[in-house]
Amino acid sequence: MRHGPIPGARGRVRPLTLLGDTVLREPCREVTGFGPELAALVEDLFATMYAARGVGLAANQVGEPLRVFVYDCPDDEDARHLGHVVNPTLVETGGVVVRGPEGCLSLPGLEAGTERYDHAVIEGFTAAGEPVTVRGSGFFARCLQHEYDHLQGRLYADRLTGWRKRRLERQAAKASWSRG
Ligand SMILES: [Zn+2]
Repeated sequence: MRHGPIPGARGRVRPLTLLGDTVLREPCREVTGFGPELAALVEDLFATMYAARGVGLAANQVGEPLRVFVYDCPDDEDARHLGHVVNPTLVETGGVVVRGPEGCLSLPGLEAGTERYDHAVIEGFTAAGEPVTVRGSGFFARCLQHEYDHLQGRLYADRLTGWRKRRLERQAAKASWSRG
């Protein structure tokens, strides 16, 4: 049994922006209006994330340069975390740094071992303007750091070094969706 509508059920699946699109490389703007347009954007993000079988999606991945992301992501204990955050601040990271497989809907089909903190805390707002705190560990902490990076104009590829970075760049250049 569940309460309330299924996230994304009223949303529209939008085209994803891909590596090479400038909107992924610019810091997103703070949201200033908490009205129906914002609620519709959150619904579109859920619909698009589910259609692409992702665990998180940032607004600039559908071409909207606004500080919003959604997630439906398990942690390492298989607990499900479902929600959205508007105007997030990454207030805390900690624990050990773990290198684990990470992918992105804006680099479809690719992944690379990426270093992330095992623990992360985000503060922000809901689409209704209510303050919200999201705490993550394990894979969900990875997801929160990944989506937060998107809003800063960063991609996980930026966090790679050495052969991992070179291999991902090579794979991205050869990918069917490559803009190069
Ligand atoms: Zn991503």
